[in-house]
Amino acid sequence: MNLKDYIANVPDFPKKGIQFKDITPLIGNGKAFQYATNQFVKFTKEIKADIIVGPDARGFIFGCPVATQLGIGFVPVRKPNKLPRETIDYSYDLEYGSNTLCLHKGDILPGQRVLIIDDLLATGGTIEATINLVQASGAVVAGIAFLIELTALNGRDKLQAYNVKTLMSY
Ligand code: AMP
Repeated sequence: MNLKDYIANVPDFPKKGIQFKDITPLIGNGKAFQYATNQFVKFTKEIKADIIVGPDARGFIFGCPVATQLGIGFVPVRKPNKLPRETIDYSYDLEYGSNTLCLHKGDILPGQRVLIIDDLLATGGTIEATINLVQASGAVVAGIAFLIELTALNGRDKLQAYNVKTLMSY
């Protein structure tokens, strides 16, 4: 299956110059979504991850089906003021704008093997923040998986120390 058939390219969204990769046609197609999920499940088994972490919000879409298929947990990394208990916070720059991400203290245990899943690798800022939060919990980043990688933005330079899997690159 060619997953690129299910990605819509939207020019100048959310602002001029950004070529937005819209994943909603892919998740709206049962076979394509299942195919992508199965690729992530295979990778999760290969790296022997025992918990999935996904950043707000599209990391939830891809992380949750992988977690349920394997019977392992899913931990959300969220935008500020969403998590009700005490959090660890980390700020970073986006391809457009800046952001802070938060993780509940105690949601990931020291020594757990974590797979981080997100929809897209652009500059790598989001994933770098997520890695920092996972490591601040004392856990191990066993791997990182993306549906899409935008190679021109060199996000992978920030991830050289990790086992990275991407299903599509542009
Ligand atoms: P970055 O932190 O620069 O790697 O940006 C990654 C996050 O921003 C991902 O979680 C994407 O959801 C979103 N994002 C950044 N650039 C794009 C793009 N061109 N198309 C769609 N989503 C994007």
